[in-house]
Amino acid sequence: MAAGDAPIGAGVPGGATAGDPAAGDAPIGAGVPGGATAGDPAAGGAPAGAAVPGGAAAGDVAVAGRGGARGVPAQAPDADWDRAVALISSASEVALACHVSPDGDALGSMLAAGAALRAAGKRVTASFGDRRFAVPRLLRFLPGQDLLVEPARYPAAPELMVTFDVSTVDRLGTLAESAGRAGELIVVDHHPSNPGFGTLNLIDPAAASTTTLVERLLHRLGLPIDEAIATCLYVGLVTDTGSFRHSSTTPAAHDMAARLVAAGPDPEEIARRLWDSSPFGYLKVLGAVLGRATLEPEVGGGLVWTFVTRADRAPYGLPYDEVEGIIDVVRRTGEAEVTVVLKEDDDGAWQVSTRSRGGVDVARVCSALGGGGHARAAGFTSRLPVEETMAGLRALL
Ligand code: AMP
Ligand code: MN
Ligand code: MN
Repeated sequence: MAAGDAPIGAGVPGGATAGDPAAGDAPIGAGVPGGATAGDPAAGGAPAGAAVPGGAAAGDVAVAGRGGARGVPAQAPDADWDRAVALISSASEVALACHVSPDGDALGSMLAAGAALRAAGKRVTASFGDRRFAVPRLLRFLPGQDLLVEPARYPAAPELMVTFDVSTVDRLGTLAESAGRAGELIVVDHHPSNPGFGTLNLIDPAAASTTTLVERLLHRLGLPIDEAIATCLYVGLVTDTGSFRHSSTTPAAHDMAARLVAAGPDPEEIARRLWDSSPFGYLKVLGAVLGRATLEPEVGGGLVWTFVTRADRAPYGLPYDEVEGIIDVVRRTGEAEVTVVLKEDDDGAWQVSTRSRGGVDVARVCSALGGGGHARAAGFTSRLPVEETMAGLRALL
């Protein structure tokens, strides 16, 4: 099929059934056999064992309104998706934002939506609120970056603003003020910890990536997914599932990958760009960081941790974002239930990444320390020295 012939997934053979995580992916009116409609509370249900914090049951309604929401829904109700479609369809100008220090899911979601909306004739602005605004080198191959503007040029009070992969207002960085003044604020996200800070919240903790929700939104809008858009969506999916290794790797995630790859992106090329293109200095820094890793078998069912400083990176001119993936090496430790990597950023703050194998809810731990995330992958920011930060963490494990 030529890219762009039809919205990906329209008329998927086999159809989704209620309870199938793919059911929520069907476009309106697609006539899904089995009777599940997008937004069916049973559809898109969390995989067995995926706990929704706060005890929200499937079908709970997100409380609209900034700040005050409680009870994150297992999946946004159908009416919310309809309202999002109405708001976006009637807007001539849309301001998009993703979280600071964007990862593949944040930038991929935003650029995919931006490209599709621009092709539909909208004026689109996209940004993220880092004080040092720069797209991480690893993500510079993503298409559609001409949509990006520096935060200083972002609309101060957008009529319609949409956020992607942003779990709390804080994660908007300097764009938080624009969100506060937006006429309507649509929050598209998959973090269970998201309080629902938009005027409209499309939050599905069962979704493997925010790009999963963007694909769903584009279907709803009837917008085609060409090769460039599919590339952005695939990057979010492949990075957030850890190359289809994490617990979010459901049949729906593989189905989505199949639809996307059919639209043209080359998985080998994307994997090379994302994971096999480090500068040589990365190896040197990695060596030092692994050399100082510590295993504490008695903490949290087994804790492995290490840290990477500005001074480690300086001799090699290695930018901060190059060390973001170090945790994926450290977490290989078989004896460890929990992995922690503290990364000193260019401002001297420590960005703390945590991972769990499922026995410890690191979102709970990181939320208690001012951050957030998912049960098995979460983070927070610390300005305390390494040992004090670790003491705070150990006390919660
Ligand atoms: P990372 O360790 O940076 O890959 O992030 C893992 C997860 O934790 C992601 O879902 C992030 O959104 C979340 N996260 C990381 N850092 C923070 C932070 N400072 N505040 C809130 N959430 C965070
Ligand atoms: Mn993210
Ligand atoms: Mn994500």
